[in-house]
Amino acid sequence: MNEYDTDKMFELLRAQDFTPAISMEDADLVLLNTCSVREKAEQKVYSELGRMRRLKKLNPTMKIGVGGCVAQQEGAKILKRAQNVDFVFGTDNLIELPEILRESENGNRTVHINRLAPRQKVRDFIPEFPSSASHVPTLKAHLAITKGCNNYCSFCVVPLTRGTEVSRSPQNILEEAIKLCRNGTRELCLLGQNVNSYQADGVDFVELLKNLDDITGLQRIRFISPHPKDFHPQLADAMADLPSVCEQLHLPLQSGSNSVLKRMRRWYTTQTYLEKVEMFCRRMPGGTISTDLIVGYPGETEEDFQNTLEMMQRVRFDLIYAFKYSIRPGTRAADEENHLSEEIKTERLRILLEAHELILKEKHEELLGSQQEILVEGPHPRETDSMSGRTRGNHSVVIRNTDAPSGSLLPVRITGYRTHLLEAEAI
Ligand code: SF4
Repeated sequence: MNEYDTDKMFELLRAQDFTPAISMEDADLVLLNTCSVREKAEQKVYSELGRMRRLKKLNPTMKIGVGGCVAQQEGAKILKRAQNVDFVFGTDNLIELPEILRESENGNRTVHINRLAPRQKVRDFIPEFPSSASHVPTLKAHLAITKGCNNYCSFCVVPLTRGTEVSRSPQNILEEAIKLCRNGTRELCLLGQNVNSYQADGVDFVELLKNLDDITGLQRIRFISPHPKDFHPQLADAMADLPSVCEQLHLPLQSGSNSVLKRMRRWYTTQTYLEKVEMFCRRMPGGTISTDLIVGYPGETEEDFQNTLEMMQRVRFDLIYAFKYSIRPGTRAADEENHLSEEIKTERLRILLEAHELILKEKHEELLGSQQEILVEGPHPRETDSMSGRTRGNHSVVIRNTDAPSGSLLPVRITGYRTHLLEAEAI
């Protein structure tokens, strides 16, 4: 989502005649788009701002702005703590950038973190760009369809930083998707904190997928992140039936322990989660599943952790995003008792990642000799006569001895693998 917002900022600035600088030293304006999903990411903002003090000494007219979730949460505290910052803008205020810059030119240090009214559609904060600020052509593009979240999972700061959920109008989404595809985009990744609860103007997520599937030139559609509670048979059917929707599902599990899931306020059990996985696998055999996992949630026992390991072994995820629990101020979990030590969390994460490496190796072995369709993304950065691309299941692949053009769909045979990369040759 932050990458997407950064692109939007870039497009807004291009319309104001800004061009990308070669380095921060050369820039007239530096925007830091921040993330507060984990404590470490938040700390990084202040250390980065510390390093940037030197830049402003070299170029006193440089403007520095801080946007994103840390900006939303910290607001004026950032101006106080980092004297080199000229303005702070929250997650709903991106569209105000041109105005904010004008104020800044007048020498005012400002904070813009007011929220949109809950009923306003996302289109109100995703700028309607003037024609001169057309999209930079990209083969793969992100497209936000919802923003914010109503789930209030106990560990998560997102509802506090991004606000309640709003869905962007389907018309507006389709317009942007068509524009992207006319400019060469072949793969779209739909974004939303709870992407599959999309609902606007009588159109739900399944209906939206159907509409997007009809766009000329669009080869692949992915989406992140769906919530398991909103993954239903109609969606699994649509995924199986719509040619451009990839057989790939990111389904955040978070924990394999029912008691932890309950305290996390995730609204599913391991049993119902497994039913959803089965629903996907039955319709899309050979499809891939990735997940998010948190280890060391407050009060997580050794048995809870073993249950997470067991769930991982049962589902055999193709990819996991696993993290140590990190206290986020203002969330329910922050007030829970029995926070675990850093040592326990680190050790559990190590065990989990090591166990997953073995699963990954087995899964890669199974893929050897298989035929896959690759969306070619461009020359491999380090290997000559080789191209990079991805399977429909989202495996990263290096294809040897081919000059297939970027953007083409290439049938390949898998010939080898490394830890997070498959090797292939064109058929
Ligand atoms: S569904 Fe996702 S974004 Fe929403 S509160 Fe839960 S973890 Fe956070």
